[in-house]
Amino acid sequence: THSGKVALVTGGNRGIGLETGRQLAELGFTVLIGVRNLAKGEAAARELGGNVEAIALDVAAPDAAARAAAEVERRFGRLDVLVNNAAIHYDPSARALKPDWTMIREAFETNVFGAWRVAVAFAPLLSASGHGRLVNVSSEGGSLASMGAGAPAYSTTKATLNALTRILSAELRGAGVLVNAVCPGWVATDMGGPGGRPLAQGAAGVVWAATLPDDGPTGGFFRDGRKLPW
Ligand code: NDP
Repeated sequence: THSGKVALVTGGNRGIGLETGRQLAELGFTVLIGVRNLAKGEAAARELGGNVEAIALDVAAPDAAARAAAEVERRFGRLDVLVNNAAIHYDPSARALKPDWTMIREAFETNVFGAWRVAVAFAPLLSASGHGRLVNVSSEGGSLASMGAGAPAYSTTKATLNALTRILSAELRGAGVLVNAVCPGWVATDMGGPGGRPLAQGAAGVVWAATLPDDGPTGGFFRDGRKLPW
């Protein structure tokens, strides 16, 4: 049912992003995995085969999103699904009172400004879809309701990403674009470490938000298709 639709997943060369791309391709999407290293990305895309290809998109680089959007516009004229997945610097043992400003700034550059820049660059193409879906891959670590000590860089970036989700949802409402934040749960990846749940399960909640029907929710925060507290 999704064949002919185009999806872009940032940070798509490994982890939850790669698995999200795999699942979307299985549903019939043409999938672009946005990567900061094109060689690594092309190898990952080849592994998924068929309808998956890599596109250069370092979300922390000022002009990369606009360049990627120009390429997608030229080739497809629209984008149906955007998954802002790329993120760095999960720092659970760090403390806000002993701030590593370099790390905190890097985290904001990628996790917040990166996702923001990509959203800005692709918003016109999502609007052109008529049924655009924007998924910000967030974390319960960014939930103010469950926030405690530690992970100062990561948690503040994800809380900010959640705020951005609300604002983008409101600004894109008239264009038929549904914008939601999704926590994939604790997933066994390079970032999550061993012991988390399988990739397929983590990515499934992202794919759920990427394939919502037109009357689906917007401006929400979900895990496994169920609401999380902000
Ligand atoms: P990984 O660390 O396994 O993968 C991160 C991906 O992001 C890699 O593909 C990496 O590319 C890419 N990336 C990092 N910086 C950039 C950049 N500047 N431009 C483009 N791509 C970039 O993370 P996960 O798969 O575990 O996490 C995916 C998402 O899920 C993140 O948003 C994370 O915060 C969220 N999440 C994960 C949880 C977990 O338990 N794993 C729990 C809750 C949320 P490269 O290979 O080049 O480094």
